[in-house]
Order: sequence, then structure tokens, then C-alpha cells
Amino acid sequence: MPLTLSGSGPRLVALLLAASGLLQAWGGKGHRIISGTMLRTLPPPLKAWYAGREDFLRDHASDPDAWRNHDRKEGPRHFLDAEIYGGADKVPYAIAEAIQQVGSAEFIANGQVTWIIQDRWKDLVEAFQAGDPEKIVFATATLGHYVGDAHVPLHSTKNHDGEETGQKGVHSRWESGLVERYIVEAELEVRPAKLDGEVLKSPWRWLRDSYALVPKLLADDRAADRTTPPEARGVRRGGAYWAIFWDSQGATVKQQLQRSAEDLGDLVLTAWVRAGKPVPKS
Ligand SMILES: [Zn+2]
Repeated sequence: MPLTLSGSGPRLVALLLAASGLLQAWGGKGHRIISGTMLRTLPPPLKAWYAGREDFLRDHASDPDAWRNHDRKEGPRHFLDAEIYGGADKVPYAIAEAIQQVGSAEFIANGQVTWIIQDRWKDLVEAFQAGDPEKIVFATATLGHYVGDAHVPLHSTKNHDGEETGQKGVHSRWESGLVERYIVEAELEVRPAKLDGEVLKSPWRWLRDSYALVPKLLADDRAADRTTPPEARGVRRGGAYWAIFWDSQGATVKQQLQRSAEDLGDLVLTAWVRAGKPVPKS
């Protein structure tokens, strides 16, 4: 079902503007890594579509973040605040049901990442059906961005940047700070892609998994921050903070990057099979 959002009025505009100011998930490095690592999961006949276009795939992995600057509907496509529905296990699959539950303004303001993944996956199926390599790679980069966002724990909660717990900046400390400092792409391990029998429901499962990671992530940030003098917290963190935070959250950061690449690989494989396993013309 296509995601169409309509609505007007000053309150809605204010909500959209507030939402579009969100930090970008995974930073540029994380999104590039997810796209590149995903390619390792694909079987050779499918991987052939991406041959010679690996850099394009990586270079466009963060495009949807840039779209937020000129499309007010774009910001909330990158997250979903599960609390509005009563928790991550209660988010409806159907847009109509979600709107009925919370009203259209709240539906828009609190994010649509699960539904946008559905829409962008269908775009990828169409690109494979058309047999157009450029469209396929672009659709994969776009889909991969939202899949990556859905695996960032703080994209599943209203407390997305620690505003409610006095931990402002935790969003970027986790998804960019740790990734930039410690993640080595070659060290990530991914399994081969497999068909996803519930392809249109999987984003909800990822959201539930992400949401379950939030309490420990916040607790670990607070514990690491005991090394930061209060007067320095608005500025930057020192080496001790980063070492402790990586020690407690590093495995989770790696796991979420690996799962992003694996789950994206499953969606790509499933789209290709749905399109009839086309092979590129040589
Ligand atoms: Zn994003």
C-alpha cells in the first residue's frame, strides 16, 4: 500500500519541522558500511547486477537524509516512536489502523520507517522487473538507508536523543561516535542472504528488536558518562568515556550493523526472486 500523507494546519507543520531536525542515523560511515557489507550476502547471479556499481551503492546510501532538507514529509520516514502506540509490539501493520489509533497528525509526527521500507521494497521489485541496473542500484541504496535506520535503537523511541533522561547527544554518540572510532568494516561477519517469507512484516520485528535495546543503551551511556565532568558534558567526551561505552555497547553496534546488512540482503534476494530472477544483459 503506498504511503500517502496528507494534512494541514500550523500544528502539523510545526510537528513536521520539529521531526525533520533529527540527527542522521548511523552517520555516513555506518550507512556506507551496511550497503557494502550487504553485497557480501548475495549469491553471484544477483550480485552481478551490482558489479562495477559498488561505489554508487555506497555513495547514495545516505541520500534520504539529504532529502529531508527539501521535503517536509521525509524526516519522519526515518524513525518510528513506538510509545505512541503503547510499545513496539503494538504498532499496527496497516496504516489505516495506525491513523485510526493515534490520529493523522500524531501518525505523521511519530514516524513511518516500517511502512516506508514496504514501499521502497516494492520499488526494488519493480526495478528488477524493468531490468534497469541503475534503477536497481539506486532503489537498493534507498531501501538500505531505511533498513539501517530501523536497526538503530534510538530510532524506535520518543527519547531519541536522550531528551527525557538528561542524555542529550546520546543519539550521535552511539550511531556515529562509536562507529567512527571503532568499527572496521572487514571485521563484520554476515551470513548469506535467505528468502524472507514475511517480507512485508519484517520491519516490525526489527523495530521490536531495536526498541528492546534502548534501556541498556541509555544505562551504558550514563555509566560511561561518570567519567565526564558535568561541566564538560555539553562539549565533548574524553577517551575514558568512549572506551567504556564501546566496551559495553560495541557488540550491540556491530550486531545492529551486521543485522542491517543481512536483513537488507534478504530483502534484495526476495525482491529479485519475486521479479523472476532476472540476469543482466552482458
Ligand atoms: Zn535516516
